[in-house]
Amino acid sequence: MTPMASGATVEQAEWEERAGILFSPALASRGVVAGFTTRALGSMGGRATPPDEASERRAAVAARLGFDAVVRTKQVHGETVVRADGPFETWPEADGMWTGRAGVLLGIVAADCVAVLAADDEGRIGAAHAGWEGTSRQIARRLIGSLRAAGADPSRIVAALGPSIGPCCYTIGGERARVVQERLGDLGGGTIVERDGELVFDLWKANVAQLREDGVGRIEVSGTCTKSGGRELWSYRGRESSERGSGLGLAFIGRITPGASPPRSPRLAEDPP
Ligand SMILES: [Zn+2]
Repeated sequence: MTPMASGATVEQAEWEERAGILFSPALASRGVVAGFTTRALGSMGGRATPPDEASERRAAVAARLGFDAVVRTKQVHGETVVRADGPFETWPEADGMWTGRAGVLLGIVAADCVAVLAADDEGRIGAAHAGWEGTSRQIARRLIGSLRAAGADPSRIVAALGPSIGPCCYTIGGERARVVQERLGDLGGGTIVERDGELVFDLWKANVAQLREDGVGRIEVSGTCTKSGGRELWSYRGRESSERGSGLGLAFIGRITPGASPPRSPRLAEDPP
């Protein structure tokens, strides 16, 4: 852990795989179930996946983790955060959601975008979807703002950035870089660098800067690149061109209802793949 000027600690910790799901150690220590599915469990959404198949797979993940369902929204690369105390009948357009309710599993689908997952110590949890659009529109800060408005003390929030396209691989064009820098202002310092004649956008650094700015006490970065990180993850930009855009992983966070039957996640290692 590196103590930062803001008082936040920022740590890199590889998420631990159990039977096709990577779990966040920092959020596990906070008593919540939070992670990201690998390709082994199939695509969890996206245009190339039949909706009923994706829905069944998400339901299976929820059941394995000890939840009834995964709460989903229609992700539009925007900056809206909604309260989600249970599954929506009609998915609202939103890239962030939060709840104070146990037994609710919040889900974000992503291939290369960052999933920002957060939990305080009083039962509030949140999730946000941050690609270059969401990151530049500061969806992470909107999420922390929503949690704070609901009563959370940011210094007691643990936030984790899931696997996503890393600074090793994420090159962007000049026009996009200009938009990002304009939107991020001072918070964008050092997040776009030139390397071998190309512009590289560090989504992890940009989201960490936002979380620190809002006073989040502990920040974990999985540091795993979806394209080159060596794990079996869905990547929009990675792998074979025929597979590009073919699938999405599910990032999730939830708190088991106190007194409910224990989550099945500890036994995941014994499940068939
Ligand atoms: Zn990479």
